Amino acid sequence: MTETRLRFPPSPTGYLHIGGARTALYNWLYAKKTGGKLILRIEDTDIERSTRESIDGIIEGLQWLGIDWDEGPYFQTEFGDDHQRAAARLLEQGKAYKCFCTKEELDAKRESALAAKNSLGYDGTCRRLGTEEAAAKESAGLPYVIRFKVPERQGKLSYEDKVLGTISCDYKEVDDFVIVRSNTKPLYLLCNVVDDIRDRISHVIRGQDHMTNTTRQVLLYEALDAPLPVFAHMPLTMDTKRAKISKRSHGEIVAVQFYKENGFLPWAFNNFLVLLGWAPGNDQEIFSREELIEAFSLERINTSHAIFNYRKNDPKFFTDPKAIAINEHYLRTMDIEELALYVKVELQKEGLWKEEYEKESRQWFVDTIDLIRARYHTLRDFVTLGRAYFADDFAICDKARKKNLDKYPDLQKWLPLLADSYEELEDFTALETERIARETADEAEVKPGVIINGMRTAVTGQLAGPSMFDILMALGREKVVPRLRAVPALYA
Ligand code: GLU
Repeated sequence: MTETRLRFPPSPTGYLHIGGARTALYNWLYAKKTGGKLILRIEDTDIERSTRESIDGIIEGLQWLGIDWDEGPYFQTEFGDDHQRAAARLLEQGKAYKCFCTKEELDAKRESALAAKNSLGYDGTCRRLGTEEAAAKESAGLPYVIRFKVPERQGKLSYEDKVLGTISCDYKEVDDFVIVRSNTKPLYLLCNVVDDIRDRISHVIRGQDHMTNTTRQVLLYEALDAPLPVFAHMPLTMDTKRAKISKRSHGEIVAVQFYKENGFLPWAFNNFLVLLGWAPGNDQEIFSREELIEAFSLERINTSHAIFNYRKNDPKFFTDPKAIAINEHYLRTMDIEELALYVKVELQKEGLWKEEYEKESRQWFVDTIDLIRARYHTLRDFVTLGRAYFADDFAICDKARKKNLDKYPDLQKWLPLLADSYEELEDFTALETERIARETADEAEVKPGVIINGMRTAVTGQLAGPSMFDILMALGREKVVPRLRAVPALYA
C-alpha cells in the first residue's frame, strides 16, 4: 500500500479554534494510525486577511496540543507558479475559459434569475464566445476571470465519502465556477487542489462545510488528470441551539488558547475534542494517546453535528462540562511526576515556584499536589484554590468565611489556644493534632466540626478540601501555628 499522506491546511486569518484543532487532531490521528505523514500547509493566499500573528497562534496551539507534523509548514503563497501553470494548462486544454462578464452584468443576470426562480449559477455566456470574439475582447484590454468549464454530461457527479457514503448531485447543478480572479490571482478552490496533488495527499479530512467545494474540486482533479484522494467530511460543531460556534457569539471559549491559559491539560483537551464528532462504538471515553490512535477510524466519525455544550451564564460550567470532567479525570489520575511538571509552570506564572521543590522539598511538593488534586478541575486551581500551600498571602473564600468563621465568633479565642497546644505538641502528627482539636471542641462545648471547619478556613482559605489533619501535615507546624494565631484578624 502506498503511504498515507494527510494535511492540515489552515487559512491564517484568525486564532486556532476548536473546530480547526479537531480537524488537525483527526488528521494527525489518522496519519499516526496508518504510519503515514501529516503535512502542515498554511493557506495564506488571501494576503489581505492573512497575518503573521495568526500563523504564530495556530502553530503555538498545535504545539500545545502535541499535534506534530512531518512536513512543513509549507506556505501556499510560495507555490504561486504551480497554481498559474495549472490554470494555464486548463485554458490550453479547453477545460477552462476566459469570462469577460462585468460585475454589473452578472448582478443583472442574478436578479432576473431570482425573479424567474431560475438557478442562480453562471449562465455560461462567455463559454459560448467564439475564439475570435474572445481574442478581440482580450486585445481590447477587457478584464476577465477564468472559469472552469463544467463538463456537459448527463447523470450524476459523485464521489465516495468515507463518513457519509456516496455523495452525488446532477452535473446541471454545478455552474462554471471561477478559478482565477480578474487580478490574475488563482482562487482557493484551485490552489487547494493543486497543492494537494503536488503534496501527494491521499486523504482529505475536513468539515462538512467544505462539501460544496469538494463537488467542484472533484472535477478539478479529473481535469488535472490526478487521482481523487479519499474524502472524509466531519460533522460541524454547533452550540446547544444548533448555531455554528464562533468567537463573536461565544467568546474566548472557542479558542484553543483559552484552554491553554485556563489550566487544561493538552492531552485531556485532545481527548475531549476527539469525542466531538467521533465515537468508538462502545462507552469508552478516556483514551491514552496509544489507545486513541489504535481506536480511531474514519468510519466511526459521526454523521450528525457535534454539540458543544456551553451554558453561557453559569460560572460552574465556564465551558462544555465534558471538557471539564475529562480534564478532572486526568488531573486526578495522571502520573504525579508528570502532573508536577504542569503545576510547576502554573506556580512559575504566579511567581510562587521555589527551586527547593525540585531538591530538598521534592517529596513534600509531590505529596502536597497529590493530596490537593482530588477536588480540582484545572491546573489553575493549584494556584487559586491551592494558593495557601505555596504562599502565605492567600484569600479567604467568602462563602467559607460566612459559614465557618462569622457564625462562630468564639473561634477567635479557641483557634489561637489550639495554636498554643500545637506549638507545644511533641509529635505534630495527624493523630495527635486531631486528638487535640477534638479536646478543644469539648472544652468549647461545640461540635468538633466547628473547630475543624474554622481551622480549615483559617489555614487554607477554603470551605472544603482533603482531610483536615492531612492538610495540617502538608502545611507543617510552622505555617499552621501562626495562621491559627492570626484568626482574630480575620474578624476585624
Ligand atoms: N484553508 C482551508 C480552511 O482553512 C482549508 C480547507 C481544506 O481543504 O481542508 O478552511
